[in-house]
Amino acid sequence: MAPARDEGHRRPTDEVAATLREVWRDVLRRDPDQPQFRGAVREVLGSIGPVLAEHPELAEVLGRLCEPERQVVFRVPWVDDAGRARVNRGFRVQFSSALGPYKGGLRFVPGLTLDVVKFLGFEQVFKNALTGQDLGGGKGGADFAAKDASPGEVMRFCQSYATELAAHVGSWTDVPAGDMGVGPREVGWMLGQYRRLVGHDDPGALTGKPAALGGSALRPEATGYGVVYFLARMLAEQGRDLDGARVVVSGSGNVALHAMDKLVAAGATVVGCSDSRGSVAEPGGVDVEALRETKDGGGSVADYAEGRADASTSSGSVFTQECDVALPCATQNEIGPEEARRLVENGCWAVVEGANGPVTPAARTILREGKVGFGPGKAANAGGVAVSALEMQQAAGREQWSAEEVDDRLGTIMAEVHDRARDAGERYFDDPADYEHGANAAAFRRVAEAVERLGVV
Ligand code: NDP
Repeated sequence: MAPARDEGHRRPTDEVAATLREVWRDVLRRDPDQPQFRGAVREVLGSIGPVLAEHPELAEVLGRLCEPERQVVFRVPWVDDAGRARVNRGFRVQFSSALGPYKGGLRFVPGLTLDVVKFLGFEQVFKNALTGQDLGGGKGGADFAAKDASPGEVMRFCQSYATELAAHVGSWTDVPAGDMGVGPREVGWMLGQYRRLVGHDDPGALTGKPAALGGSALRPEATGYGVVYFLARMLAEQGRDLDGARVVVSGSGNVALHAMDKLVAAGATVVGCSDSRGSVAEPGGVDVEALRETKDGGGSVADYAEGRADASTSSGSVFTQECDVALPCATQNEIGPEEARRLVENGCWAVVEGANGPVTPAARTILREGKVGFGPGKAANAGGVAVSALEMQQAAGREQWSAEEVDDRLGTIMAEVHDRARDAGERYFDDPADYEHGANAAAFRRVAEAVERLGVV
């Protein structure tokens, strides 16, 4: 496969280009049934030609980077409230430990596949590298419908999942956190079972814990806040700011709601929101507290909109609404070509990914051609893992930092993530606004150098 953006830029040697093609062929041969993972690999391979032109010695690590170090797939048996035995499939993919312990969240959603977990794990390796912290990359989860289960069922499920997980995690080995369907409550239950099994306390073995168990201040808020810090810095490069901006946000979960809080604090108006059941347009501005209360009570965005004079509901995408900024914060593949075209037509300034992989490759091309700024999730949503690393630091030092201190550090890390992506965009693609290729190039360089220096292991 040829690197995507080589014209007018340094080209890798023929030998390096042949290595790229060989790695790509191996991915296709080994995982023909994993389109999400393939897409993630293709995107990175398409961004690193200019890095390899400068550092041809890094080409030989590509094969190792595209194959996870370890993949664990396991049975998760549990008993539901009716006393019936149930079984789900659990995953933990330990992708790369070149920069530190495997680090990445656990996702409990129906239909989760190894393909999705590998795609997320591969992304995580590069995201973690971009933070500048010493973290490897991994991801895990189960095809378990956490949001449809009772608290008792979720606890039994978490305990069963952690029974297998315990064999693989630890503060110097692999440090999972939450993701979709997994919040502090679930992390606490998994930590409880883990402690019983290993027979000692290891508070750095899981992050995203409840505060009572040593969870960091602002860990729940970190991803959403970080997205907005990244966005604000990106808009500043365009000579714009968030004051008065109209923003649509998809999802009404952890990332989306905390991003909305920060947007409103920065003077923006959230004019549209959504969840898995539909979307809402509210030109006067979504009341984030009222939305949070409805969601916490088990309601939908449509329930929130009921009785609100300015709000209208739809079963369609939130991204067809007029806006200055779009923040997809729900799940993968939310913005396809149709939504991207509408965003271009509506004069949107920027699309920044709070979720992992919400904008499809075809949609990204349309946004680029339409001159809409694009902040890739790999960079923009790195705030969650960054504060997880701060939680590991606090656990190691038996410390608890204040929310102000964590927020300060988060702000600095997000500024650095932004600048690394921007600077690599400028250096390798002559375009500081090309965060997509810039993020991949900067992250690849850091991980690949570590892999190369470790030797063939
Ligand atoms: P949550 O489970 O808290 O929230 C997910 C939200 O997305 C829910 O409101 C859900 O709807 C909604 N949703 C799910 N599918 C769709 C869909 N097809 N269309 C519209 N809305 C949908 O997850 P998080 O907020 O933690 O994670 C969201 C994204 O951010 C994921 O891609 C995750 O990997 C990524 N991310 C999360 C991090 C974190 O720290 N939590 C860190 C970095 C990335 P409903 O309410 O109806 O269930």
